[in-house]
Amino acid sequence: MVPVNLTLVAGHRMRMIAPASKKASGLMQAFALSPRHLHTAQARRHSAPEKNRRSYATHVAKPNGKKTLVLLGTGWGSTTILKTLDTSNFNVVVVSPRNYFLFTPLLPSCTVGTTENRSIMEPIRHIVGRHNKDIRFYEAQCTDIDPEAKQLTLQTPSDSTARISYDYLVVGVGGTYNTFGTPGVQEHALFLKEMQDASKIRRRLKDTIEKAGFEGTTEEERKRLLHMVVVGGGPTGVEFAGELHDLITEDLSKWVPGLAKQVKITLVEALPHVLPSFDPKLVKYTEHTLRKNGIQLMTGTTVKQVGPTSLVVRDTKSGSEAEIPYGNIVWAAGIQAREFAHTLRSKVPIVQNNARGLIIDDHLRVRGARDIWALGDCTVSKNAPLAQVASQQGKWLARAFNSMAKERQIGDAYASIAAKAPFVYSSRGSLAYIGGERAIAEIPAFSTSITAGGPLASLFWKSYCLWELFSVRSSMSVATDWAKRALFGRHISVD
Ligand SMILES: Cc1cc2nc3c(=O)[nH]c(=O)nc-3n(C[C@H](O)[C@H](O)[C@H](O)COP(=O)(O)OP(=O)(O)OC[C@H]3O[C@@H](n4cnc5c(N)ncnc54)[C@H](O)[C@@H]3O)c2cc1C
Repeated sequence: MVPVNLTLVAGHRMRMIAPASKKASGLMQAFALSPRHLHTAQARRHSAPEKNRRSYATHVAKPNGKKTLVLLGTGWGSTTILKTLDTSNFNVVVVSPRNYFLFTPLLPSCTVGTTENRSIMEPIRHIVGRHNKDIRFYEAQCTDIDPEAKQLTLQTPSDSTARISYDYLVVGVGGTYNTFGTPGVQEHALFLKEMQDASKIRRRLKDTIEKAGFEGTTEEERKRLLHMVVVGGGPTGVEFAGELHDLITEDLSKWVPGLAKQVKITLVEALPHVLPSFDPKLVKYTEHTLRKNGIQLMTGTTVKQVGPTSLVVRDTKSGSEAEIPYGNIVWAAGIQAREFAHTLRSKVPIVQNNARGLIIDDHLRVRGARDIWALGDCTVSKNAPLAQVASQQGKWLARAFNSMAKERQIGDAYASIAAKAPFVYSSRGSLAYIGGERAIAEIPAFSTSITAGGPLASLFWKSYCLWELFSVRSSMSVATDWAKRALFGRHISVD
């Protein structure tokens, strides 16, 4: 276990485990806390005034002489590092407000109950435990950094703050949705980035459909409530529209046939076509399939403003504007780096001058900083914000740390890693589910690529998801969800 003396974790967990001593000893084991740690924290908790209890100065001790490597985030990038890194060479500390890894490719299917939420959430403790890794995890958000003192400020879910030190830092805090400053989006739209977003969409879909079925609802109001607008014709928007179509045709049509017939889906995209990164043949196939499934495509259209019950769109060619009433609007129009990336940028003001995120070099080093690497969606590079990019970067960085440790060059990781061959992304292809048991696939093969669209591609997409899921447990859960859906339909109740 990492020899860490962390008052915050002991104190924070104490609040939850104090009443049950059996549970307490379990958690003490899990967190490698000795009864002395717990006792000290407990005594401190009872004696310290409330104000003092909320802030802890914490230091990651290094009595074993190993360097402390802090990973921020439990997403595609950081989790891949955990899987590949030989953790015996470092004191590894993971910090993230999310105590699980999220398999994002299946997130759209959670919005309508095709897949259950927990099936695609892999507890970070399982990942750590399965690999028997000597890793410490803090459930907290990193809110500030002092790159000179090599210190991070953390904020826990209970609002305590703490500081930890690092020797090496890897920033994998990911991205968040981007409203592009469009008025009303933040206030009225739904997003699809995290599991909480998917749950919110599921609840709102249920609410609006139930409301539309109320006795006194006028025809005009019913029409509005049953109009679902998706903004963004990238993979997330298209996949969500496809899943929504499946919910309506496969389930709502059985349970509320009158309402199901009236549900309308509109997909709004600023560019002339959806899925711009795909092969034009697949784009054509996707647009044809979406239209055939009754989804209205408004391409070449930008959203000017979103109100509580309607949005204003503008045709990019003619410049004409129209107001469209809606019941639900899901914004899947782009992402930007998370807040912490900007906090770090502000500490390196002249070099880090790209508002989209952290500028990194070919060796994933944050330009202008020292002993800090960054990967995935919080960075700006020539690569797209994709899970496969973040995980390849994670693998590359972990291997670089491993080989550096083998060569006994841990003392100057920055120079040592820079001397290695740079990171080069290699695309393993693109897949997207488009609804009605159809998907599209574009797989690189030698100097060309194989493209396919239809039910077979959908089978391929499903197999790929099952294969890529983090554990056998997750794969079995997802396969079971799909089997249950095929036999009994979706579980459409929402708590
Ligand atoms: C609906 C959807 C479907 C997608 N489908 C695909 C797909 O099919 N194929 C594909 O290649 N890509 C897909 N993507 C994109 C892919 O999910 C991202 O590119 C990928 O998640 C980026 O990985 P990351 O490690 O940079 O960030 P993330 O996976 O977003 O992880 C970021 C982590 O940082 C944590 N964090 C945030 N703030 C802080 C902080 N201040 N301190 C510490 N930790 C913090 C977060 O809690 C999270 O654990 C999809 C994305 C979405 C939203």
